[in-house]
Amino acid sequence: MIVLSGGTGTPKLLDGLRHVIPEEDITVVVNTAEDLWVSGNLITPDIDTVLYLFSERIDRSKWWGVREDTFITHEAMKLAGHDEGMMIGDIDRATHIMRSELLRNGMSLTEAIRSMTSSFGIRSCVLPMSDDPVSTMITTPSERVHFQDFWVKNHGEPEVLEVLQDGIESASISPGVLEALEIEDEVLIGPSNPITSIGPIISLPGMRDLLKRKKVVAVSPIIGKEPISGPAGKLMSARGFDVSSVGVAECYGEILDAMVLDIRDEAAGDAIKDMGIDAFFKDTLMRSADISKGLAENIVDIFSNI
Ligand code: GDP
Repeated sequence: MIVLSGGTGTPKLLDGLRHVIPEEDITVVVNTAEDLWVSGNLITPDIDTVLYLFSERIDRSKWWGVREDTFITHEAMKLAGHDEGMMIGDIDRATHIMRSELLRNGMSLTEAIRSMTSSFGIRSCVLPMSDDPVSTMITTPSERVHFQDFWVKNHGEPEVLEVLQDGIESASISPGVLEALEIEDEVLIGPSNPITSIGPIISLPGMRDLLKRKKVVAVSPIIGKEPISGPAGKLMSARGFDVSSVGVAECYGEILDAMVLDIRDEAAGDAIKDMGIDAFFKDTLMRSADISKGLAENIVDIFSNI
């Protein structure tokens, strides 16, 4: 199964899925539009979250970063007057340094991540959506900033006028993703931000046409009128979508065969079915490893029945 992933919600679901199907049968295609260089190293936040999940190091209280990481390097630089603008843990930074060295030595991002998954003993295939740089940029009333500056430095507070992915038109789908799409028939769109995480993956030139030929099931990251976490609501509104599971279905459009909605979100079901998309109602609020596993089992059943 191919899983399209951003942060938070999809890694929680992957945590269940890897106990339902063998890890080596999972290919994760990860958003790279939030990547950025900080203090000389490339940070790939969504890929790192997936790497830490599969290598049993993720901080489950936040669903990003490494559990019990320290911040000695970050604090030392801050004391010396270099404020990185975001908290980077020491073990997390080791990942960034390794990856950036591989890139500086001439590897593509796909090759660098393959080398790292192998060093970390990860059996699933983790693939960047593209080897080309793509950056989500947010226009607020006062400035145009990288998504990380909007979300981390400005705490997601400013009004959002526009969300654009710089570089998306000229970015190519990474070779590993193209190969996986030749072989696999089932694509799961995880519950991640539809605009800044899943949006960039499905907006890569040619991607929607490839996905239309697959069985595509999405899990909604929204229950009622609110995302479970993060700025998805504000960003969906800025793009003109209703903040609801119906709005998420509209974002994804014709690529969807089925959508998994939360059991508390039945009101959205009729509108989804009217769009020609099968709707399934499950507990999607992954408050525990058991709920994640139960949801993953339901999804495997859905794929075999659509
Ligand atoms: P962010 O919006 O920048 O945090 O982007 P991410 O790609 O990291 O996605 C976070 C998304 O995951 C948010 O839209 C949440 O609503 C969603 N999410 C987080 N936890 C859960 C969960 O337990 N269930 C579901 N269905 N969605 C979740």
